[in-house]
Amino acid sequence: QKEEWAKMKNEPTKTSDGEQVELAANIGTPEDVSSVIDNGGEGIGLYRTEFLYMGKNQLPTEEEQYDAYKSVLEQMDDKPVVVRTLDIGGDKELSYLDLPKELNPFLGFRAIRFCLENEDVFRTQLRALLRASVHGNLKIMFPMIATLEEFHQAKAILLDEKEDLKKEGISVSDQIEVGIMVEIPSTAVIAKQFAKEVDFFSIGTNDLIQYTMAADRMNERVSYLYQPYHPAILNLVSTVIDAAHNENKWVGMCGEMAGDPIAIPILLGLGLDEFSMSATSILQARTQIHDLSIEKLASYKDKILSMGTAEEVVEFVKEKTE
Ligand code: PEP
Ligand code: MG
Repeated sequence: QKEEWAKMKNEPTKTSDGEQVELAANIGTPEDVSSVIDNGGEGIGLYRTEFLYMGKNQLPTEEEQYDAYKSVLEQMDDKPVVVRTLDIGGDKELSYLDLPKELNPFLGFRAIRFCLENEDVFRTQLRALLRASVHGNLKIMFPMIATLEEFHQAKAILLDEKEDLKKEGISVSDQIEVGIMVEIPSTAVIAKQFAKEVDFFSIGTNDLIQYTMAADRMNERVSYLYQPYHPAILNLVSTVIDAAHNENKWVGMCGEMAGDPIAIPILLGLGLDEFSMSATSILQARTQIHDLSIEKLASYKDKILSMGTAEEVVEFVKEKTE
């Protein structure tokens, strides 16, 4: 089986009816890129920048960040690289920031919420990213966006830093797409409004599932409710994809679900454009996708979205893709 997958390394990711999608990888450090290339990744769909901030006792400097972003962009040549701005809080703590303990960290002061209140930290990261942008195909993504105002604020700060750099005579790419993660139900529900303003969406199912089902992704006791194939999740995903396509924007997914062999046919049928997963899942996914027909999968869309339980969905998909 591994040999069959290896043959797919330099093949385009095409379905049996000739539609192309992108298979990208999630990374945490520049060292992860070699494995993405070895596994035939067509891009980086999620660069989690938290690792630059963790495991040390102070914030990373602009220069340290610039070096890391530049390294990833250069290694990927001109392939797309989606860098997510700092998503700290929740389960990821930074000891040196000494933030107050919270009763519900996953519902608390994290990610873009932290960045918009600690503008200096945010601006340093954005400057590093903007400076690195000339070294490849950079796309910037804001995590945990719950409201349009948050997106407006974050984007305004980004544009402000861009202006400053230009005034300083430092070159910045003019092709940087700016998108958001859709991982909070409020944003999925009004994706139509967001789609007019963002350049792309990336659906973060790890969080979207926990917030939609009200089931902590770290809590074993309620893990039975953590259901990727629950029709509520699939309806949200479908809403986001339709909203984006209506505005000619693309949609990726960077949660674990994007690399799951049961989810892949469903997501193809819903029209997902980019699948971002761990590098080691890419060849298997490409092999699977080559044998699937988008036209056929899309014809199941309404039926799947009107089902009542995850179990029904899984049973149906298994039967249809056997
Ligand atoms: C997600 O929420 O799906 C995601 C990709 O982000 P993280 O797992 O880093 O929260
Ligand atoms: Mg998340």
